[in-house]
Amino acid sequence: MEDSTNTLLKRLDLNRPGLEKVKASADNPAKAAKELLAYYRARKSVKHPVNRADRKKSRSKYAIARDIKIANDALKHVFITQSSYPPHFVGKDIDWSTNPVPDHEWIWQLHRMYFWDAMARAYWHTGDEKYASEWFAQLQDWVHKNPRDDKHKFAWRRIEAGIRGHAWMGLYQRFLDSPSFTPEVLVAFLNSCHDHASFLVERFTPENHGLMEAEGAAFIAIMFPEFKDAKKWRDKSIRHLNAEIKKQVRPDGHQVEQTLGYHAGCIRWFAQTWELAKMNGLEKAFGSEYANRLEKMCEVLMKLGLPDGSSAQFGDTTSPVRVRSVLTKWAGVFGRRDFLYVATAGKEGTKPKQTAYALTDSGFYSMRSGWDEKAVCLILKCGPGPFWHCQPDNGTFELYAAGRRLMPDSGTYIYHGDPAGRKWFKQTRVHQTLTLDGKNSDYKPALRLWKPGKNLDVLVVENGSYKNLTHRRAVLFVKKKFFVLVDEAIGKAGGDVDLHFQLAPSQAVFDRALPSVRTDFKKGSNVLIRSLAQKAMVLRKENGQVSFKYGQKQPRPAFRFRINKTSGTPAVRFVTLVVPYEGKVPETKISLVGSPAPGAGRIELDVTVGAVTARIGYDLKNKKAWIR
Ligand code: CA
Repeated sequence: MEDSTNTLLKRLDLNRPGLEKVKASADNPAKAAKELLAYYRARKSVKHPVNRADRKKSRSKYAIARDIKIANDALKHVFITQSSYPPHFVGKDIDWSTNPVPDHEWIWQLHRMYFWDAMARAYWHTGDEKYASEWFAQLQDWVHKNPRDDKHKFAWRRIEAGIRGHAWMGLYQRFLDSPSFTPEVLVAFLNSCHDHASFLVERFTPENHGLMEAEGAAFIAIMFPEFKDAKKWRDKSIRHLNAEIKKQVRPDGHQVEQTLGYHAGCIRWFAQTWELAKMNGLEKAFGSEYANRLEKMCEVLMKLGLPDGSSAQFGDTTSPVRVRSVLTKWAGVFGRRDFLYVATAGKEGTKPKQTAYALTDSGFYSMRSGWDEKAVCLILKCGPGPFWHCQPDNGTFELYAAGRRLMPDSGTYIYHGDPAGRKWFKQTRVHQTLTLDGKNSDYKPALRLWKPGKNLDVLVVENGSYKNLTHRRAVLFVKKKFFVLVDEAIGKAGGDVDLHFQLAPSQAVFDRALPSVRTDFKKGSNVLIRSLAQKAMVLRKENGQVSFKYGQKQPRPAFRFRINKTSGTPAVRFVTLVVPYEGKVPETKISLVGSPAPGAGRIELDVTVGAVTARIGYDLKNKKAWIR
């Protein structure tokens, strides 16, 4: 204790106002530590989103049943780490190196100690000191058993250190006023904070990890300006955030990793330090462009969110983003009435003016019939890559109608521990797009036409999916009711050209004569997918899987239309009706007007779906689209 207090005192600027008594006791470490604790308990100059003054009024309304359960388990050393795995007993004497599953995420997330946050919430909720005293014991145990050396790399991955740096500041706020928060706990805690911040600012990992690392260092630096190095840590981490928001956020607002899950995470990781800085009068460290980029990031959630407040799950999005709760917060910060409308499902605010959006830098597009939950909505992705969290799925889409995600993306499934499983979910051919011989596609996106309109929205994108084979996909949203897809494989490559579709878990009804496939939900919305019949085209079932939660998967209907393309054929084409409906299956008709060659860039079609009959078309050369 004496040595560690002396180490800490050397790390602090004892000449700061308020630390006079600590300085005067420097040759008596026990007394100095006691004075330091008294200083921090009395200190009012630093603010944090968790306000210590709220402790008493938080009683009985600060934790949910799940927090209490996690906290009570944690008292017994039964820990939840990656939330998809069951709680696990780590020993009476905690073994911080244990990993009961073949997935590294388990031990990595053990060292994020999310269960400590549950203990802190349970503490404020119940006022029971057992949560505080157990936290102090576990904190000291962790610090003692996990020095930063080569034997403890599992505890000191940079991202976990960053996550701890941020989380521990909230724990400190909740536990500081506990009578069992002793000078000894303070010394161990502050020394570990110093170890964390000095480690984190050595270098920041690229992409989203680096944001959490900078956040952790900045939080420690802002919360504890008494450290001699605090300003250096603060400057370096805020400089990183300022630079990264320009680098990681495309002009259209989407984060570069191309997944809404990480996009929403990055909003948080960019915002939290900015907010803490604002609370503490340090906002000048962020330029005005920083807030503009953050607002633009929030717009992405409004533009790409599904009508029920969930989101599509392209790339590594292990569960849908809760768009409404994110937009509720940012509607207030940025004074955005349109965010408020989407956040409150139309109860407040102003309806967004558009129903179709093109995010042309990231290659995300949305078309919807309206802003109510009953709306039809299609989100398509055709953007740049690769990134670790991104999948080779250009051209793919999710379809939502009237409360149901009828054609959800396959999802992520898992990061580590099942390489074959992870690989399966990343494949191009398990997406709603086109493949050549079932192989994974490249990332070479291009936008060819974007014509949103009252009765017809038209999007035409291309992807240079394979050497000598471009996938061109046109999406025509007819009268805000149904979609016509025109998919063309253009180029001299030959092989099996497959157009894949996957449905929500359900029973699918196949009609090989039409050919068509549809879902068969007894209640709510369904989708019918009908392809324009061609002699050379074959419909087949495929293996379908979908994951809605990390580590979990389930079967679902999947199928493909195949045309074998010889290398002498310049292009092949599929024309597909995608019809969401409720009640009885609508009558459909589809035919080409004239005989335009596949890949010609101009096409006209006659379509009938139920009571709607229309002649629709587009012309890439003249950049035109029409409906009659
Ligand atoms: Ca996917």
